[in-house]
Amino acid sequence: MSKEAVSKPVGGGFLLGDGPAATIFVPEQFTEEQLSFSETAVDFMEKDVLPLTEKMEEHDKKIEINVKLMKKAGEIGLLMIEIPEEFGGLGMDLSTSLKVSEAIARSGSFAATILAHSGIGTLPIVYFGNEAQKRKYLPKLATGEMIAAYGLTETGYGSDALGAKTKAVLSPDKKYYVLNGEKQFITNSGFADLFIIYAKVDGEKFTAFIVERKFEGLSTAKEENKMGIKGSSTRSVILNDVKVPVENVLGEIGKGHQSALGVLDIGRLKLGMASVGGSKEIIKYAVQYANQRMQFGQPISSFGMIRRKFADMMTKVYVTESMSYRTSGMIDDAIHALDRKAPDFSKKAAKIFEDYDIEASIMKVYGSEMLGFVVDEAVQSYGGYGYIEDYPVARAYRDARINRIFEGTNEINRLLIPATILKRSMKGELDFMGRLDDILAEIKADRVNKTPGQGLLGTEMLAADIAKKITVYAAGVSVQKYMSSLTDKAFNFGRGEYIFEQLANMMMETYAIDSAILRTLKLKELKGEPAISIPVLMTRAFVYETLNKIALIARQVLGDVAQDNADEFTTYEKALARLTFTYALDLSGIKERIAAHVVEKEGYTL
Ligand SMILES: Cc1cc2nc3c(=O)[nH]c(=O)nc-3n(C[C@H](O)[C@H](O)[C@H](O)COP(=O)(O)OP(=O)(O)OC[C@H]3O[C@@H](n4cnc5c(N)ncnc54)[C@H](O)[C@@H]3O)c2cc1C
Repeated sequence: MSKEAVSKPVGGGFLLGDGPAATIFVPEQFTEEQLSFSETAVDFMEKDVLPLTEKMEEHDKKIEINVKLMKKAGEIGLLMIEIPEEFGGLGMDLSTSLKVSEAIARSGSFAATILAHSGIGTLPIVYFGNEAQKRKYLPKLATGEMIAAYGLTETGYGSDALGAKTKAVLSPDKKYYVLNGEKQFITNSGFADLFIIYAKVDGEKFTAFIVERKFEGLSTAKEENKMGIKGSSTRSVILNDVKVPVENVLGEIGKGHQSALGVLDIGRLKLGMASVGGSKEIIKYAVQYANQRMQFGQPISSFGMIRRKFADMMTKVYVTESMSYRTSGMIDDAIHALDRKAPDFSKKAAKIFEDYDIEASIMKVYGSEMLGFVVDEAVQSYGGYGYIEDYPVARAYRDARINRIFEGTNEINRLLIPATILKRSMKGELDFMGRLDDILAEIKADRVNKTPGQGLLGTEMLAADIAKKITVYAAGVSVQKYMSSLTDKAFNFGRGEYIFEQLANMMMETYAIDSAILRTLKLKELKGEPAISIPVLMTRAFVYETLNKIALIARQVLGDVAQDNADEFTTYEKALARLTFTYALDLSGIKERIAAHVVEKEGYTL
């Protein structure tokens, strides 16, 4: 990857400008070495994990099976991908790790287990641990000798996680912190050997601790009876006077939020990609089923409404995948530019993940909702059989639902997207207001460019530009109107959320449009235009539909902002009309060509 990419804007910059296609990473650029890891994961899933899908959901088998599979995953190197080489890992980049997440997502339950271990369970030590902690724990986590869990949530503190009540008090001899409290819904808690536990020192300073299962006073409650991912372990973790040596404080006292939230950003990126992997699996099942199920004397895959579903499923997966790898590519580029041998490497790498927290939230929400769409349409394609547990889509439907809830609910992540963009703008890191001024000037002079560019996807590039302008305009008008209320908690958590939610939707769709176009243009460079007819069709269909969606949301936001003031609304409407760009497209004709491809190939093919 080019050094040029390193100088691209920090997270959120996509809204204000456009990166040239040459600087984005696309999965078609993976090297053989990178792909060999995901092939190992694919092989492992097929031979070891998928045959046990039903067994691992049995209450008395789940722990034994998960532990066995985790040991095997450790033996074949799947747990060491992001652990630095000097601590027994492979030190691979985020993109490779995402590719492995994609492969593992074929089992919702095991994906939860392995991602909780190698992501939120292990990465706090990788990025925030000291040398001694890394030396002690990482080699064992890399091989699966120890399995990790992450304990943040409490009964009264879920979304409001930093409010946690679990308490840590220094012992009189200053050798231990004594922890008391209860963590809820902790993945891997039935068998984990190590827990990253968040507690407040003296009830005030939010701090991370490395807590081993064998420390006296730690116990777990009974398994939760879940709707889905039944093969994973979820329990409460009870801390009753647990003596944690002072050397197991992770990071600084009172700075636990850094690791708690920092690793969630990485978790969110992985969840987005895992959603892509899960979706690919489900598309395959749905299309194969539709090709053999006959109604009215013909396969149901010949019916337009079923074919439309397949075209949309494939397109949404393509787009989400483009966003995921674009994001991981930017992060990898920035991390590659760091000096790995420098003592502050981990700290700087953690800062880079933080820089892309907007994109991480987008990937979490977009990926989980895309998966939700795919499993829902898959159940529908199966008809009544989709509702019967003997067929694979019923489990996938149940398993998918949790993705919108954990790693920060989609509501919380939606709040974070516009709020972080505004925060960055106020800190001068993003020139949001400057961009808004330019757009307002263009509207005033009625000189918004509506001439499509030349060449492949020229119209779509213009549409992306317009989508960004509409989004910045709607966000800008909202900010200008509510500037004085933005520091008011009642507004932010109340009426303001109606607007934040819509702005987040616009921002996510803008990132989606932009990423799909950039990937397709990059593919043209890599493979030549004749080889990319399906990506071109998917991009055209997606951009067309999504630009219309963005314009509609903008109208709603502007209505919300104007409230009952008809004159104010008319002013906004006129401005929006000057920004809006519409064009003719044979949408169903394009979708039909995508569907024909999916139906013939029986699955996602790119
Ligand atoms: C299977 C499973 C595995 C899990 N694994 C782990 C784990 O390994 N480690 C861990 O620490 N936690 C884990 N969790 C916990 C999970 O992260 C939380 O359930 C989640 O963060 C939501 O918290 P809550 O359940 O308390 O819901 P609440 O916070 O009570 O939220 C309820 C609803 O209110 C909404 N809401 C809350 N605040 C706002 C707001 N300000 N604006 C708008 N809407 C809002 C939420 O979005 C949600 O829709 C797991 C949960 C499950 C079910």
